[in-house]
Amino acid sequence: METRADVVVIGAGVNGLSAAAMLASKGRSVVVVESADVPGGAVRTAEVTLPGFRHDLFAMNLGLFAGGPVNAALGADLARHGFELVPSAKPFCSVFPDGTMLGVEADAAATRANVERTSPEDVAEWEALTAKLQDLAPYLFGILGSDLPSWKAVKTLWKAHRALGTDGVYDLVKLALASTRAFTDEHFTSPKVKALMASWGMHLDFAPDISGGALFSFLETMGGQLFGMVIGKGGASTMIDGLVGVITEKGGEVRCGARVDEILVSRGKAIGVRLANGDTIRASHAVISNVNPKLMPDLLPDEISSRPEVARARAFRPGLGTMMIHLALDSLPAWTASEAREYNYVHVGPYVDDMALAYTDTAAGRLPSTPTLVVGQPTVSDPSRAPEGKHVLWIQVRVLPLEIADGRSWDEAGEAYADHVMGILEQYAPGLAQQVIGRAILTPSDLERYNANLVLGDSLGGSHHPAQFFFLRPVPGWGRHRTPVKSLFICGAGTWPGGGVGGASGAMVAGIVG
Ligand SMILES: Cc1cc2nc3c(=O)[nH]c(=O)nc-3n(C[C@H](O)[C@H](O)[C@H](O)COP(=O)(O)OP(=O)(O)OC[C@H]3O[C@@H](n4cnc5c(N)ncnc54)[C@H](O)[C@@H]3O)c2cc1C
Repeated sequence: METRADVVVIGAGVNGLSAAAMLASKGRSVVVVESADVPGGAVRTAEVTLPGFRHDLFAMNLGLFAGGPVNAALGADLARHGFELVPSAKPFCSVFPDGTMLGVEADAAATRANVERTSPEDVAEWEALTAKLQDLAPYLFGILGSDLPSWKAVKTLWKAHRALGTDGVYDLVKLALASTRAFTDEHFTSPKVKALMASWGMHLDFAPDISGGALFSFLETMGGQLFGMVIGKGGASTMIDGLVGVITEKGGEVRCGARVDEILVSRGKAIGVRLANGDTIRASHAVISNVNPKLMPDLLPDEISSRPEVARARAFRPGLGTMMIHLALDSLPAWTASEAREYNYVHVGPYVDDMALAYTDTAAGRLPSTPTLVVGQPTVSDPSRAPEGKHVLWIQVRVLPLEIADGRSWDEAGEAYADHVMGILEQYAPGLAQQVIGRAILTPSDLERYNANLVLGDSLGGSHHPAQFFFLRPVPGWGRHRTPVKSLFICGAGTWPGGGVGGASGAMVAGIVG
């Protein structure tokens, strides 16, 4: 069967759907084809433990989307389709082995008091960095919201130069290149304050000693006070339902269970796609791919994928792996640092050195004995996700080996390693094991089974190290969301501005395709 549209989008991740929703809103006819049986990619909510317990299988924190261009353009439409954000007054904290914690609240004065309780000597610098974010925000967010390279980005840098001076711009560049260890050592004395910030680097693949980690950690840590954190009421997939609702009400189509096997190219121009079942969809205007760039050459005809400028995308490096442990609980964890119960995210590093060692072990293929954990407590702010009085826990085990050096597969090692993680948490929240009434784990291999873009269980859609970031994402020659093939555009975590649910690359592509 053949279908025709102005634009075909391959992949119904948040960026593919964002591009489609924005184009459909402009009157373009759009068909989105998705290989999974539901849309959303790395945004999906499901009852994987017990009935009535709604787990965000992957992304939970929707802060990037809330502040992003798609929500700005289509927020009212998304709300009509049931998408609602739930803010958190207490976005994140770190807990430590001595039973203490340090939290960032969506209130600068309250956070300042928390820092003062932990480390009075760091308060002045904390306040200075909080003010610095406010000064830099227009330029940092200006760059993050611009295609790279582009005149828009150059203009933003020029404005930054006029406002901050040459030294100010150099400071900005230093922030973009520094590691979290270098940055936190420069600004703080307390190992707890340093760990609070460095744990955000571990959300990406920025271990404390990797160049480039400071920027994201600075933005998230300081930004937590100004912007808080938001999650989707009832689950993150309500955001996806909203985007699909907008596309379909504007006459577009989102077709699931439809894997693209080949991008059709004629005279050097993308003209459509062929699905695994043999159906074709012709695109008169453009093909937009939300597929991980590493996998793109395999979708192109041999004579094109063998060209060096196309084949180089195969070298796009994944970040490290991630495991998810989803728990249904009969009560919230009894954190020894009892205040941690009020926060949406609890980070367990515990310290900068532990994060550095966990990363090094992982990079060498060893299972880290002290992995960095992000423990999400969505029911603290959104009780609708569990039966009354009950809770769900979202445990992300950050950086894990893509392949385990001792030869075991993740299917073999997964449950035992999840038990190890539960043992670590028991030290911070005694009695957790008795509170568990349901458990489901997703190993790095499971992640890839759900979504081929999560290559070997990399949650990031590609490493974010500097050699693959900014104007170099994903690989030289594929920047600005173009590919070496005419009318074939790319969006998604593997493209600028990188991973997360912001939808910005989808919006950028929609702007280009028009
Ligand atoms: C465990 C986990 C936790 C995370 N937590 C957060 C968080 O809290 N906050 C946050 O901001 N980000 C988080 N992220 C990252 C964020 O979820 C992703 O970066 C983002 O959702 C990726 O979106 P995307 O547009 O790149 O598409 P993807 O989500 O990768 O979706 C792409 C889609 O394309 C489909 N596809 C691929 N190949 C084909 C083909 N040949 N034919 C048809 N369809 C195809 C896939 O099936 C998939 O559905 C998390 C990620 C993971 C894995």
